[in-house]
Amino acid sequence: MKTRYFEYHMPTKIVFGRGKLALLGQICKNIGNKAILVTGKSAMRDTGILQVVIDSLKSEGVVVSLSDNIPANPDSDTVDAAVEIARQANANVVIGIGGGSVIDAAKAVAVTATTRDSVCNLIGKTLLPSDLALPIIAIPTTAGTGSEVTKGAIIKDSRRNLKSGIRGSDIFPKVALIDPLLCLSMPRTVIIETAFDALTHAIETYVARRATPLSEIISEKSLQLLSVTLPQIEKSQYTEEISETMSLVALYGGINIGNCGSCLPHRLQQATGSLCHIEISHARGLSSLYPSWLEHAVDSSTKKFDQVAKLLNMNNISEFPNLLSNLELPSSLGEIGIEKSDVSTILNNVTGSIENDPIDNVDEAILKSILLNAL
Ligand SMILES: [Zn+2]
Repeated sequence: MKTRYFEYHMPTKIVFGRGKLALLGQICKNIGNKAILVTGKSAMRDTGILQVVIDSLKSEGVVVSLSDNIPANPDSDTVDAAVEIARQANANVVIGIGGGSVIDAAKAVAVTATTRDSVCNLIGKTLLPSDLALPIIAIPTTAGTGSEVTKGAIIKDSRRNLKSGIRGSDIFPKVALIDPLLCLSMPRTVIIETAFDALTHAIETYVARRATPLSEIISEKSLQLLSVTLPQIEKSQYTEEISETMSLVALYGGINIGNCGSCLPHRLQQATGSLCHIEISHARGLSSLYPSWLEHAVDSSTKKFDQVAKLLNMNNISEFPNLLSNLELPSSLGEIGIEKSDVSTILNNVTGSIENDPIDNVDEAILKSILLNAL
């Protein structure tokens, strides 16, 4: 029998449960007493969640400063502005509350705040472990990215026009406070997009070369749960129970991504972020690549793709485009405005590990073939 070797690392404390946002003040006071709260432009304010957060922190004596203008695809200028607020306030803990972009921005603030530099110097790098980064409390208000438990943050470098990751163990949040009730206010498009992102995390970490016996169990459970929730989401049902299941699936995906990484769809989607004329969500970028990637990858890991199809109640993985059309997601790059002339720019901006994909010997020719076939 083949001998097994794998490692598993998940240093983030997980606090999961409906209504548990109320614990924030108590959790935070044990980590830091001067918090910078990083959040998006208006959703948290409009839903009243921001006030609950601030009240909870203040009631435990935590001083709060606020950076509340993080956009959907955070860039270095926005992060640097938040870092300045954190420095001025002498913050000793960063709280990110919002979707994956906000949590990524909070992570970037945490690793930049104690340096004298701009976040631009960290984008595209894997950081060595240090004691310098500020601790992070991540509070997701969407259910999909899993960013609350991963060691990566995707930020666009405004100077180089490069969208890339900052990675390293300092980026793992100290606490992921997951309250599924916070996800109930997601608009339908965000529900669908984040659910699809969670689906891709389950699939990619299942077929990835760095998949482990532990991650495979987690992926299979996620796919099984998604086979129940996706049809409900299609019908616009999003009850507290579904929200709780999706928060769990997102968490599972994040834990797996942190341990096994992702595959080519994530590498290529990230690279499309460098196209100035394309402003598209992570999930739509992924879905537009998926049919082409599956066609290229299926023969490299037949058994596993068969199992993915079975767990998703499909006869064969070739039925995957039906799932996309049921969820009203794009299934080609053309649908999101990407043309043949963009392919070379995408190829020039691919970063991260392409060797993790199940496809053998991935090179530029294979990447180009996936992109052209996806048009
Ligand atoms: Zn993703």
